[in-house]
Amino acid sequence: MSESASGAELPPPPVVHGAPQELAPGVWIVADRGVPLVPNIGIVLGERKALVVDTGIGPENGRRVRQLADELAGGRELVLTITHFHPEHGFGAQAFADATIVYNRAQRDEFRSKAAGYVEMFRTFGESVASALDNVELVEPNSVYEGDVTTLDLGGRSVELRTWGQAHTLGDQVVFLPEERILFTGDLVEEGCFAIVPYFPPDDTDVDGDKWIAVLDRLEALAPEIVVPGHGSVGGASVIREARDYLTALRDEVRELKSAGVPVDTAVEQLDARMRSLHPDWLQPEWIGFGVRHFYDAG
Ligand SMILES: [Zn+2]
Repeated sequence: MSESASGAELPPPPVVHGAPQELAPGVWIVADRGVPLVPNIGIVLGERKALVVDTGIGPENGRRVRQLADELAGGRELVLTITHFHPEHGFGAQAFADATIVYNRAQRDEFRSKAAGYVEMFRTFGESVASALDNVELVEPNSVYEGDVTTLDLGGRSVELRTWGQAHTLGDQVVFLPEERILFTGDLVEEGCFAIVPYFPPDDTDVDGDKWIAVLDRLEALAPEIVVPGHGSVGGASVIREARDYLTALRDEVRELKSAGVPVDTAVEQLDARMRSLHPDWLQPEWIGFGVRHFYDAG
C-alpha cells in the first residue's frame, strides 16, 4: 500500500495480474506484486494433473487464474486447493467448480461457518473490494482430508498438503513439494509485510499467535529451500524466520507491557511506532495493532 505525504491513497484494486513466473520446472507462481488483497498464486504441474494454489478474491480473479491454469496445464486435470478460507485466497473458486477442490476438514468447517460473514465484512473495505466480490459464489470443496497431511500424486510429482490446525486461522494449510523443497505458506508467512493477524472481536477471535509461532517452527523443520509467502516476495527459509521473529517479538513486548499495567490502547500506540521503526519498508503496518490486541487479550 503506498502512502503520499498528504495522506493515505486508495489502494489499487485487488486484481490478480502479470505473467506467471517459473520457480522450478513446472512450478509457477503468479506474484502478488505488492497489491493488498492479492495473494501469491501457485500452479504446479505433474504429468497428469495440475494443482492450483489459491484463486484471488471474487469471480473475475478466479476466471483469470483459471485461464492461466488452463494455459499452463494444457489439458491436464485441474486440482484446486486453498491455503485457508480467507476471501482473498479462495473466493474465486467458482471458476474451478468442475475441478477437484481439496481442503482439510478444519478449513472446510471454518469456511462453512464464516465465509458468508467475511463476504459482508470485506464488502465494507471499499468499492474496489466490494465490486470484486459481486456475484461471488461460495464453493465448497468436493474432497476433504482428515488428519494433518495428504499427498497428491500429480503424475511424476508428489505434493503434500499439510496442516497443524489453528494458527492464522483454524485450518491453515501449506503446500509442500518435498522433492523440490518448495513451500507455499499461505498467510502463515508474509514477506516484507506485517503479519496479518485477523483478530476481529467479537466476530472472529480464532487466530492463535502462540500456536502460529509454533507452526512456523514446524515449517522451518520442513527445510524448504524456496518459500512462497501468502503475500510478498519469494525467498528462502529466512522468510519464515523473519515472520516468526516478528510475531515472537510482538508477543513478548505485548506481554511485558501488559504485565506492567500498560492499557491496551497505549500498548498499541507504543508498539505500532516501535514495529514501524524496526521494519520501515514493510507493507500494511495497520496489522500491527490487530496483533497487539490479540496478544494482549490472549495473554
Ligand atoms: Zn489470511
